[in-house]
Amino acid sequence: MSVRIGIVGGAGRMGLALVRRTLELQRRDGSCSLVGVLVRDGSPALGRDAGLLAGGDPCGVATSTDPVALFADADAVIDFTTPEATGRFAVLAAQGKTVHVVGTTGLGPAEERALDAASHHAPIIRAANMSLGVTLLQALVEKVAATLDDGFDIEIVEMHHRHKVDAPSGTALALGEAAARGRGVDLAAASVRSRDGHTGPRPAGSIGFATLRGGDVVGEHTVVFAGAGERIELTHKSASRDIFANGAVRAAIWGHGQRPGLYGMADVLGL
Ligand code: NAD
Repeated sequence: MSVRIGIVGGAGRMGLALVRRTLELQRRDGSCSLVGVLVRDGSPALGRDAGLLAGGDPCGVATSTDPVALFADADAVIDFTTPEATGRFAVLAAQGKTVHVVGTTGLGPAEERALDAASHHAPIIRAANMSLGVTLLQALVEKVAATLDDGFDIEIVEMHHRHKVDAPSGTALALGEAAARGRGVDLAAASVRSRDGHTGPRPAGSIGFATLRGGDVVGEHTVVFAGAGERIELTHKSASRDIFANGAVRAAIWGHGQRPGLYGMADVLGL
């Protein structure tokens, strides 16, 4: 069966990678097909062939601006846009009972509520990082945190390109959640998101975050477990956005036929 995929934010960095991956699978094994690509009103990309826009051959799908039609036509819509747009798309996913694959990070409480509400009507698959490597890293971090006591300080360091607008990254926060789960603590209570000036000594049991921004770094995350006389560091480095696009398209195909609910990449990968 070929899963009919729509992509919103089709002119964005991730949108273009998603179009390329969907068309690659459409040609290679027919497991999915591209049925629509949405761009913003007034975008210079509006009306262009999505395959050409993404740097490949023409595919016969022109970009459009009508999300209602897209969510009605597609079996699954992949969304790497902005929190505000994702909140509105979740309502359409619920109405159309359309699989909604959400990669957008930096969601606020209103968008979280919108995804939660939509998950009663449609499969919603959401991950701050859709790569296989980071999904595995989360499982490893949880295990290490559960094994070591708070004699080991946990610090999470991330670096991304200069255009990234939210900090810490959604992946860093997801790794923090994994560490907190392993330790059996609440991340909101344990996390230290920034340090400046006379901070005093490090509170025992806290989970610290440090953010670096610069250049064209796709994404790097290290979780440090620093003990007395020894240190464990678990690192993931993304060399290309294709790893996120590959995971997201896999999630869209997996999601078709699933019951309504809120899912993560661990569900998609059967971990
Ligand atoms: P980007 O700015 O290059 O692309 C976002 C695109 O969405 C833009 O083209 C914008 O015009 C479009 N857009 C916004 N609102 C829209 C609307 N209402 N209708 C149609 N298009 C709309 O950003 P990016 O680097 O592609 O990242 C997008 C999001 O994905 C960010 O939140 C980023 O953190 C996240 N991200 C997640 C993962 C993951 O694995 N989950 C990986 C990479 C990036």
